[in-house]
Amino acid sequence: MMTHEELKQVLAEASKVFVLTDENVAMYWLTELEHWLGLAGASEIVIKPGESQKTLQTAQRLWKTLLKQGADRHSILINFGGGVITDLGGFVASCYQRGIRFVNVPTTLLAMVDAAIGGKNGVDFGGCKNQIGTFAEPLEVMVSPVLLSTLPDRELLSGLAEMVKYGFIADPSMLGVHQNNYEQYILRAGQIKREIVAQDYTDQGKRKILNFGHTLGHAFESFSYNTPCPLTHGEAVAAGMGCALWLSVQQCGLSEQVFRNYVPKLKYLLNKAEWQLKEEDVPALLKPLAHDKKNRAGQLRFVLLAEVGHPVCDCEVSESLVRQAVVEVLNVIR
Ligand code: NAD
Repeated sequence: MMTHEELKQVLAEASKVFVLTDENVAMYWLTELEHWLGLAGASEIVIKPGESQKTLQTAQRLWKTLLKQGADRHSILINFGGGVITDLGGFVASCYQRGIRFVNVPTTLLAMVDAAIGGKNGVDFGGCKNQIGTFAEPLEVMVSPVLLSTLPDRELLSGLAEMVKYGFIADPSMLGVHQNNYEQYILRAGQIKREIVAQDYTDQGKRKILNFGHTLGHAFESFSYNTPCPLTHGEAVAAGMGCALWLSVQQCGLSEQVFRNYVPKLKYLLNKAEWQLKEEDVPALLKPLAHDKKNRAGQLRFVLLAEVGHPVCDCEVSESLVRQAVVEVLNVIR
């Protein structure tokens, strides 16, 4: 980890510094960041906010901008935003001229505890999340919780969902996190992610546990883009964790009481979501699972729990049970 002064020094020595951010973050914080990191001559690249920007088309536009503005192998890209910006910017930087250095300065809780850490970058493609991407580590991740003071409540809850996930898969004390005490958990959350990633950077083994709740979470998220009220990433993950808990009871010996105990927590994480999903939509919702990188040979594979804190990877689940899980969970958590 670099100190603030060390980072400033590295940035000062770069041939050129670019700051990628979105309109919301730029409005509240771009000037502050430039003061904070001494970025007087930096080029600002401001894009529209939202998951719809996490595409190859945007990446291509950004590569053109970098090229036009003279970015070279000694340039640095600062990704200043939520997970959309860190995923997209990391991808753009890691491909441009076969990879230039980048720094993540996350501005959402979700990005501080998850998206900005661990070296996974990418864009959505073909209607599915994160289908095209790279593994490349940022030079540094600078976390500053003061940036969260402008974050809408719904986005805060979205970050809490990923923190709750760490509670289920790694450290049950994280299950105590909520809207009034999350600051004291940010550091520990980042540590958990780093510890897991350090054991399996390229996602062949242990890292898979981070996908708890994400198999169906990504399906909920992708499906909701075509509705007037898309879910946040964390809301989709909260719903996905509900299904994973239910499936864990059916297939992994998790006590039914655990599922019941955590339904209120998941409801709380979802209380600002406007669900559009109906039971008859479930087959369409499950269709993209065929593309999920965690599945092999047409089998649906999930990370489930034997107990809280004891995840089990690669649990094969029949499609009909998955369908049942979605219906059950929709009925109890929304
Ligand atoms: P986001 O980047 O879309 O940010 C959410 C909203 O908050 C946006 O409208 C943004 O403009 C606004 N915002 C950001 N910071 C703000 C601030 N400080 N004040 C006010 N508004 C602010 O979404 P997100 O939830 O941060 O990230 C979701 C993305 O992260 C998804 O694409 C997901 O796939 C990805 N992700 C990646 C990883 C990974 O390991 N690479 C892990 C988890 C999630």
